[in-house]
Amino acid sequence: MHREPDGHRAKKSLGQNFLQDDNICRKIVDALDIGPADRIIEIGPGQGALTRFIADAAPGRFTAVEKDDSLADLLEAGFPSVEVVRQDALKYPWAELTEAQPCKIVGNLPYNIGSKLIWDIVSTATGMERAVFMVQHEVALRLTAAPGGKAYGGLTAWVKNFCAPRYLFKVPPTVFRPRPKVDSAVVLFIPLPPDSRPEHPEKLSRLLKLLFQQRRKQISTILRKEWSAGTEQWFADQGLDPRLRPENLSPEQLRALSVVF
Ligand code: SAM
Repeated sequence: MHREPDGHRAKKSLGQNFLQDDNICRKIVDALDIGPADRIIEIGPGQGALTRFIADAAPGRFTAVEKDDSLADLLEAGFPSVEVVRQDALKYPWAELTEAQPCKIVGNLPYNIGSKLIWDIVSTATGMERAVFMVQHEVALRLTAAPGGKAYGGLTAWVKNFCAPRYLFKVPPTVFRPRPKVDSAVVLFIPLPPDSRPEHPEKLSRLLKLLFQQRRKQISTILRKEWSAGTEQWFADQGLDPRLRPENLSPEQLRALSVVF
């Protein structure tokens, strides 16, 4: 087990790989483009690698959500102006961050919950003005993939119905302590305008789960039990062959299909 100089033992179960490189921390925080009135939420501040640069940028209000109590103690002592929330970020009330509560969200995310957190945040925190997340490199490729390839999946199509994700840069294992086994990457998320977001997210979520659990099959085979005249007509109107694989449909097409099938 890795032990830090202050005695903190890095917990693998909480995805604790602490950033040691100030330039990378600065680049992540710069991508958030913090203005003096901005409300910032940091997920998993850990030992404060990013927290320090965010606090220096002097946002209007700064909340840090940390599950590990011993790290939360250190943060409260080191950053008295930051509101430290001791909570599982998966249970944080993201849906309460509406347009009336605009915010920017940042985090070097614990790898085991990165995809799930991003799924929830982009679809429920409607007041999110932008977000910058570090995730496993492979997840960054999935988040930003174009249709047609292996990296493109339910997560890609979901996120792109709410945001424009942009791959910013790759981060090697050498800049963390302890070192993870894989590369990481930083992704920027800019939300789509409110009227471009799905009206029926629950339908889209259901369809994506159905399709991408069996992504090697043809769409008509996967949806056979629920195939309707409306579905048939939709494919005809789009000039699309229902024998396509799920990965061949764009995020917009998947959204449209989720409403008619
Ligand atoms: N931001 C720090 C850095 O870059 O060095 C720490 C990043 S570390 C990859 C992930 C952090 O998220 C750890 O501090 C860990 O304790 C915290 N964490 C893990 N699971 C969490 C959860 N479910 N909710 C909130 N924080 C969590």
